[in-house]
Amino acid sequence: CGIVGYIGDQEASPILIESLRKLEYRGYDSAGIAVYNGSSINIVKTKGRLKDLEEKLEGRTVKGTVGIGHTRWATHGAPSDENSHPHTNGDESITVVHNGIIENYMELKDELISHGYVFVSETDTEVAVHLIDYYYKHKEDPVDAVVKAMNKIEGSYALGVLFKDHPDLLIAVRKDSPLIVGLGKGENYIASDIPAVLQYTRDVYLLEDEEIAILTKEDVKIINKNKEQVNREVFKVTWDV
Ligand code: GLU
Repeated sequence: CGIVGYIGDQEASPILIESLRKLEYRGYDSAGIAVYNGSSINIVKTKGRLKDLEEKLEGRTVKGTVGIGHTRWATHGAPSDENSHPHTNGDESITVVHNGIIENYMELKDELISHGYVFVSETDTEVAVHLIDYYYKHKEDPVDAVVKAMNKIEGSYALGVLFKDHPDLLIAVRKDSPLIVGLGKGENYIASDIPAVLQYTRDVYLLEDEEIAILTKEDVKIINKNKEQVNREVFKVTWDV
C-alpha cells in the first residue's frame, strides 16, 4: 500500500527502508525492496512487517544507488513471500512495484501466457511486469514500453519500474493511486505520499493521472500518455510530519 524509489549516489537500501517506514500508517501485510548495483537487480522481500524485511536484510549486501520499495496490501493472491513486491520477469531485466488493482489482469495474463510468459505469483501486478517486458522487447525503448503498457492496463496503479539495461533510470507512472516525485540535488525520489520523502527534500512534483515521471539522478521529466512533455511547478512542502 506504499511505494518508494530512489536514484542518486547514496546507498539506496537504507533510504528505501526509512521512506517505507513513513508510509507504515497506510497499513500493509508484506514489504520488499529491489536495489540495482549496475550489474544485477537484487530483490529482498517478505510477508510481514518492515522489521521482518530488515531482519531478512541483515547480513546481506544489497548494495546499489538505485532502487524501489513496496509495502503490500494484498488484493490478488494471499500475503506470501512469492506474492510480495517487487516483482520481476523471467530474465530479471525488469522489476516493478505496484499499488492498486489491475482490473483487466485476467485477459492480459491469458494473452501474455499465449506469448510464452511464465507467471510465478498470483498477483495482478505480475501482468504489468511481463507486459512492459513484451513492449520493451519489441522496441528496446523503456519509456515507450511503460507508456504502451499503461495504455493497455485498466484499473488503478502507481508503478515504479527499473530496467536492467538502464541503470541510470527510474520510471514511475500513476492512475487513481497516489504518487509524488521528490526533488533532491543529484538525487531524486518517488513515493506514494509526501511524508516518505520529507526527511530528504521539501521540493516535490505532484503527479497527475496518467502521467509518467522519468527520473535520472540529475533530472526529472514528466510526460503524458501521448508522450508530450508536461511542465509541472515545484510544490514546496511547508509543513512537518
Ligand atoms: N494488487 C496488488 C497486489 O495484490 C498491489 C496491492 C497493493 O496496492 O499493495 O499485490
